[in-house]
Amino acid sequence: MAKVVKAQVASDIEQLAASGIQVGLATLLVGDDPASHVYVGYKHKDANAVGMSSIHVELPASASQDEVFAAVDELNERQDVTGMIVQLPLPDGLDGEAAVERVLPTKDADGLHPFNLGRMILGRPGPLPATPSGVMTILDHYGIETAGKTAVVIGRSFLVGKPMALLLGAKGVDATVIQTHSRTPDLASVCATADILITAIGRPGLVDASFVKPGAVVIDVGTTRTDDGLRGDVVFEEVAEIAGAITPVPGGVGPMTRASLLTNTIGLARA
Ligand code: NAP
Repeated sequence: MAKVVKAQVASDIEQLAASGIQVGLATLLVGDDPASHVYVGYKHKDANAVGMSSIHVELPASASQDEVFAAVDELNERQDVTGMIVQLPLPDGLDGEAAVERVLPTKDADGLHPFNLGRMILGRPGPLPATPSGVMTILDHYGIETAGKTAVVIGRSFLVGKPMALLLGAKGVDATVIQTHSRTPDLASVCATADILITAIGRPGLVDASFVKPGAVVIDVGTTRTDDGLRGDVVFEEVAEIAGAITPVPGGVGPMTRASLLTNTIGLARA
């Protein structure tokens, strides 16, 4: 599926180039978190694979908030940057949300700027948060009915959980959404009411078969690096036995998140 989206993006880039618009994606990476380096590397690889130019800016973990803002300002001003990502999380002591807010909403490839989050609430067009948007593409691509269904989202971060719940409950999608979090009592029973269960926690193996109604669609957003490699929130083998459909980790939501970043960047270049 990610390949299908990327092929479309590659064709869009050629079309835009023919009308004189060059698409360029910039990433800003602060510090030396190994996982962030890997994720940013993937984003550049994806951009290059579809013929999108990519620009990488790196700051040391010792950078001040003002230095982060200055780097964002510089990318905001560059004509060859049509979309930009501030790789989160920022090192301790730096405010990642403030850095995202510094990005021009018209260059917000992650769809996380408060202006664009506001437009999403209003149902207006604009870049959508990449991970929930990737999940919506998965549901759409596999023809999974959402209207009239009960969707349970575990997690309420601004990056995943909150926008996920909004998109599932939007007009035209029409799921009835229950948003859960670490304070939800009897989480397994609440989740077991879901026709569609989305887990965005970051606790490997928390979601076992007792959380899942037979036949439910399970989307595992969680990714945690462990000694055994990348792990999702869901006990895959156990839940796959009873779920109607399930996404794996790795190779499920992650590639679709990256594909959504490219789609957002195309949308911003067109606007
Ligand atoms: P986050 O900001 O840490 O949020 C985690 C959420 O899980 C919080 O809302 C928290 O509840 C909830 N939670 C924690 N422990 C819980 C428990 N025992 N029971 C129920 N809820 C619990 O993380 P995030 O940024 O949303 O990311 C979530 C996961 O998705 C992480 O593993 C992250 O690596 C992954 N992720 C994957 C992709 C991808 O492309 N695949 C993209 C982004 C994130 P409270 O609000 O009550 O604390």
